[in-house]
Amino acid sequence: MSGNESRLQAIYHITNREDTPVETPKKLKKIWASDVFNLAKMEELLSKKAFKGMKKTIATGEALDPSVADVVAASMKDWAMARGAKFFSHIFYPMTNATAEKHDGFIVTNPEGQAITEFTGGLLIKGEPDGSSFPNGSIRVTNAARGHTVWDPTSPAYLMQTANGPTLMIPSVFLSWTGESLDKKIPLLRSNTAMNNAAQKVLKLMGEKDVSTLNSSCGAEQEYFLVDDNFAAARPDLVLAGRTLFGAPAAKGQEFDDHYFGAIPPRVLVFMQDFENTLYKLGIPAKAHHNEVAPGQFEIAPYYETANIAADHQQLLMTVLKNTAKKHGFLCLMHEKPFAGINGSGKHVNWSVGNSTQGNLLDPGETPHDNLNFLLFCGAVIRGVHKYGPLLRAVIASAGNDHRLGANEAPPAILSVYLGRQLEKIFDDIKEGKLTGSEGGGIMDLGLSQILNFAKDPGDRNRTSPFAFTGNRFEFRAVGSEQSVSGPLIAMNTMLADSLEWIATELEAALENASEEEAVVAVLQKLMIEHGNAVFGGDGYSSEWHKEAVEERGLANIPTTADALPTLKEDYIKELFSSTGVLSNVELASRYEVYSEQYILAIEMEAKLVIDMAKTSIYPAATRYLADIASTVNEAKEAGVELSTATVAKVAGLISDMMTSVDSLGDVLAQHDFDSTDAHMQHCANAIRGAMDNVRTAADGLELEVADDLWPLPKYQEMLFIK
Ligand code: ADP
Ligand code: MG
Repeated sequence: MSGNESRLQAIYHITNREDTPVETPKKLKKIWASDVFNLAKMEELLSKKAFKGMKKTIATGEALDPSVADVVAASMKDWAMARGAKFFSHIFYPMTNATAEKHDGFIVTNPEGQAITEFTGGLLIKGEPDGSSFPNGSIRVTNAARGHTVWDPTSPAYLMQTANGPTLMIPSVFLSWTGESLDKKIPLLRSNTAMNNAAQKVLKLMGEKDVSTLNSSCGAEQEYFLVDDNFAAARPDLVLAGRTLFGAPAAKGQEFDDHYFGAIPPRVLVFMQDFENTLYKLGIPAKAHHNEVAPGQFEIAPYYETANIAADHQQLLMTVLKNTAKKHGFLCLMHEKPFAGINGSGKHVNWSVGNSTQGNLLDPGETPHDNLNFLLFCGAVIRGVHKYGPLLRAVIASAGNDHRLGANEAPPAILSVYLGRQLEKIFDDIKEGKLTGSEGGGIMDLGLSQILNFAKDPGDRNRTSPFAFTGNRFEFRAVGSEQSVSGPLIAMNTMLADSLEWIATELEAALENASEEEAVVAVLQKLMIEHGNAVFGGDGYSSEWHKEAVEERGLANIPTTADALPTLKEDYIKELFSSTGVLSNVELASRYEVYSEQYILAIEMEAKLVIDMAKTSIYPAATRYLADIASTVNEAKEAGVELSTATVAKVAGLISDMMTSVDSLGDVLAQHDFDSTDAHMQHCANAIRGAMDNVRTAADGLELEVADDLWPLPKYQEMLFIK
């Protein structure tokens, strides 16, 4: 085997590695939520009154009696300390995609100098990290940095286990001293409230008497790559940017389709089981895992939960995923496009809304045409996707996700909604003002007596749609793998709230002189005439769709983050968020500022790294090789043998192309005089990204020429196939 020294060493370590020791599997019942201070534990440990208070707040979101907080704090502390915890932390979700935590000890000393422990309701409820280092989008000036974390009693506290023992983690909201949200949890909770308020109106107009609080639910499928640590450590781009900025395609990619749902490699399976064991202890219901499309790519999908808890769990899952991968000698890549030329990773956010009295409002049942509540809620989603398509695009915008969207592997950058044959027909009928019936799925009979017949699904799947109805929920498939699910959930709940408000107003008027069914059809007919253009069941990857969507249907095709984020400044978006109470104008403006800054920083960091790697890794290897082959040609000539100089010329040409492109990239990167943030983002999306691509093209060309034993960076075939 050739390869330079560091690559050979990496391969040696991988092929000789010993398995990471793992716990022997325990029964699910034994480990399930063992590290969580959940309702079951509270029932055991709290007074009856305190337990009842907590239970009610969790179910309905109603305010908790402050005296209950003291009781909860005391038993939370006892429970955590009995398990070895000495520290607690409010964990919160700033406007980045990450989580943040500040650890405090339970310890205080008394006048006698003894160490005692203290954890009051006050300490449980409120923490105060110096918030000045978190992105706040101009909400706070640095000299007024006070930020508060406040306990969210509706998301259970848990123990985060590390080698140094457990820490009690308390899910919290994060706000400025002036009361503005600096996080993703506050707007998510508010969006639920807005959705509930609007949904209550619609359901009551529909004659429902008993309507309990509605909540949104989320089940997120997470895709990721695993690369052995030994390779990753030799790739500065993987370490810093989470993606390869260079790399020629391997001779084998994903074209054999032999990875998707393939047998999971034993080392990965051991890792997955270890990972899921930890998730179970944390009360995260890991449900499905499998190989994904690309080599080295996998997926984990937990069972769905209420959106607020699912969002907290999703963040925790990403942390545990990275840490467990590390323990097993892998770097886990959640970047949306770690490897050029093969599929990137997304996160499918499955979303529905419901309550305990009406059930899942997005469940059509056997005969959707006579499930009027369902039709109204489904119609509300269609209106939302149409009216707020650009917002849905903006909340999934990131430097990483720009590599996926519209690249024929992931949903296009045009927001449309897929309903499936059965529902599309019903909504087509509604557009004509009628409601005729529902086509059933029928029975699948394979004609094999030993295989049982089963009921067919009434709708197929459409993998090319960014937003698809999948039986009893919508699946937002264009979300990036690294992104928090909160942004998409906030947008979906808020657009639904807005649509349900509109429906409530229309329905109330229509009901005055029509039957319930006539009124529903009339309202939905109007809705479909105005917004039906967003419904699309065909191939979302095709160029015909791109043309039809934009030219005939007036839908927006928004290719980059630079094009998408300015949507957040539009008046109708401000109106959406302020009228629903989800984000004030100031809070919304701060989101635009923070996200655009993150985008600019991400691209500029990558550009600097491209320059650095091209100059200090690739150029030296390539020139060494050039010197080698040039002198070989000369020596041969002296010996009277004429060798072709074509390779010498080609390598020399690529080296000079690369260095010219590096200079141009340096020039565009140095520009800093922009009229606006929008202009700066456009510069990143076009000039900088373009110049980076030029460097890469030459460098990847060199990788295919330069002697393997000189090439310093682990190659695609090594990173993707050696485990
Ligand atoms: P697929 O890959 O076929 O889309 P998966 O089983 O991998 O299916 O993931 C589907 C996700 O959708 C899971 O997280 C599942 O729990 C979730 N889900 C199922 N029903 C609902 C629902 N009513 N609301 C929200 N999420 C749901
Ligand atoms: Mg899915």
